[in-house]
Amino acid sequence: MVGFPRDRPHRAPMTAGQTIACANQKGGVGKTTTVVNVAAYLALAGDRVLIVDLDPQGNATSGLGIDRSAAQRSVYDAVVEDAALDELVVATSIDGLSLVPSSMSLAGAEVELTPLAQRERRLAHLLAPTVPSYDYVLLDCPPSLGLLTVNALTAADSVLIPIQCEYYALEGLTQLIATINLVRDHLNPDLAIKGVVLTMYDGRTNLSADVAAEVRHHLGEAVFDAVIPRSVRLAEAPSYGRPIVDHDPTSRGALAYRELAQELRRRDGKPAVLDPADATAGVTFQATVNASEELAS
Ligand code: ADP
Ligand code: MG
Repeated sequence: MVGFPRDRPHRAPMTAGQTIACANQKGGVGKTTTVVNVAAYLALAGDRVLIVDLDPQGNATSGLGIDRSAAQRSVYDAVVEDAALDELVVATSIDGLSLVPSSMSLAGAEVELTPLAQRERRLAHLLAPTVPSYDYVLLDCPPSLGLLTVNALTAADSVLIPIQCEYYALEGLTQLIATINLVRDHLNPDLAIKGVVLTMYDGRTNLSADVAAEVRHHLGEAVFDAVIPRSVRLAEAPSYGRPIVDHDPTSRGALAYRELAQELRRRDGKPAVLDPADATAGVTFQATVNASEELAS
């Protein structure tokens, strides 16, 4: 059955400027939601965070309120056209959180990269001068195991895997792990497993509990304690172009992502600055802002 060979999941050393690829070739499992919201809470905790949106659909870009149809440059200009990544970084509404946006042109990148030299290592080369300026660089991967995801796995120190609490949750994981092992063998021997995060957990169904138990049984300590519930507030936040911390910081989904960011920092040996008092202050403030916005509309 599935498992992570040759790796002690969260024993990866704490490093400044670490790069984490969020990957799962299944679409709709919560990769982008996890990247955007974990990144926001890491930034809130004081980390300097960069998201690189590697999905041509650009959901992380639009979910952060950046208009991807506007004629701005995107990560495409870097991976295909050799632009410096630093030139492509844009600010977001969250202090300390920056983004390299995606664009539709990225859809052609898989094909355009194919004939290029070092095609799997292009992102790694591009990221090298940029990573030291950040505490965390999060790579939001497209829903495939193509060249963009391979570039991400080659550039990353570790991989974060969201698994949806649905039937067939583990289906496809074998293939992802095979890809991770191939990347380790040929491109990035030090690629670690950052962890597995259970997403869209529905507490009203036995199915979610069964799937969570099965995933924990197979993957053990690789699975984060924090579980992300199925939440309408999480699903609607991207349509406002906001991470959940700006949209509804007291919702269950917000608290779960805050806890996940906390756990990630804890595993990296960092203090839990989001807990409890200072985070509550932020939440209270945000809740007040949201409530007054609701009253005003
Ligand atoms: P991926 O990036 O893996 O394709 P997304 O993060 O875009 O997945 O999530 C897929 C869809 O499910 C999106 O519409 C998103 O808003 C929604 N979604 C993600 N996480 C949750 C959740 N915990 N509860 C409810 N809806 C969610
Ligand atoms: Mg996505």
